[in-house]
Amino acid sequence: MKVPFVDLHALHEPIAAEIQAEVSAVIERGDFILGENVARFEEEFAAYCGVSHAAGLDSGLSALELGLRAMGIGEGDEVILPANTFIASAAAVSATGARPVLVDIDPVTYNIDPASADQAVTPRTKAIMPVHLYGQPAEMDSIMQLARKRGLKMIEDASQAHGAEYRGRRVGSFGDCAAFSLYPAKNLGAFGDAGVLVSNNADLIDKVKTYRNYGSLKKYHHVEQPFNRRLDTLQAAVLRVKLRKLDEWNQGRRRAAAAYRERLAGLVETPDEATNAMHVYHLFVVRCNERDALQAHLSERGVGSVLHYPIPIHLQPCYASLGHREGDFPITEQYAKTILSLPMFPTLGDEQIGAVVDAIRQWKTERA
Ligand SMILES: *Cc1c(COP(=O)(O)O)cnc(C)c1O
Repeated sequence: MKVPFVDLHALHEPIAAEIQAEVSAVIERGDFILGENVARFEEEFAAYCGVSHAAGLDSGLSALELGLRAMGIGEGDEVILPANTFIASAAAVSATGARPVLVDIDPVTYNIDPASADQAVTPRTKAIMPVHLYGQPAEMDSIMQLARKRGLKMIEDASQAHGAEYRGRRVGSFGDCAAFSLYPAKNLGAFGDAGVLVSNNADLIDKVKTYRNYGSLKKYHHVEQPFNRRLDTLQAAVLRVKLRKLDEWNQGRRRAAAAYRERLAGLVETPDEATNAMHVYHLFVVRCNERDALQAHLSERGVGSVLHYPIPIHLQPCYASLGHREGDFPITEQYAKTILSLPMFPTLGDEQIGAVVDAIRQWKTERA
């Protein structure tokens, strides 16, 4: 049995007719740019996160960058973030002209280590960016305390954690603002690139809505730096249908994760789930030595797997100018060599999980 790494087709098939009807309605109305669905999606997604405002954007990267800019971050400033994340988290900081200051991760949650973040603060530090990586909320109690104590702004990178909860509160409601990617394979994904920024600060969201639309709220009156970063009406129409399924889909991911955890015990290191948080398993990341050999074996057996991420940010050629070298963030580096993301999607079935587990067990047995 082949098991794909993700299966978007299985997700979309049951709602295809509903989405097609919404797309047809947009074509009828012709309101392709900042149409009705954009404002509706913003209201619905903000409410979902338990905040009052949202701005629909063209990507998660734009949500991070414009959120930082709206908080006044730019040249000469420093923003603290984890070394183990997708490149976009750091790229958004660089795009504003500020310097990304990387820190190591906590070995249990894989998220930013609050103590290392505290040590990285300098007089130039303006903000901290916790990333809720793989769907697991970062340790928000410590991070919020640190931000308060040091007078830092906070932007959450919630691009992998739509619907995740920390102490019963959805992520996206902790920072001054929070960015979500709506890339197709994310827990909530459009049919192309899209993103959204949420906040309880109406002025901040207004500023981002101005940025995204050529620095204007009134046509041809450009009061802020002009960007074109709008969420398409068509994508918003798709997202509104999919948002209604998000909780059910996240439950499907959690069910698959529980089955994996039980059946993989003793074979590979499975992820820990904090007792005060609800993990939404954007990815199911295990660890094992000889990871490359295991990945090759899975591939031969028709099981898809991916590395998130094979090279930490501080060792990427594009960030050579930060002046880091191997050894700077030992946990991040050790994990980059041992992590493996197994197939994970809401409709992942018991038989598919069984096929993945059998393939891993066979590999272990062969090496024993
Ligand atoms: C996907 C992702 C982003 C960027 O999203 P895009 O929509 O591709 O720009 C940012 N941060 C993290 C952690 C992500 O996983």
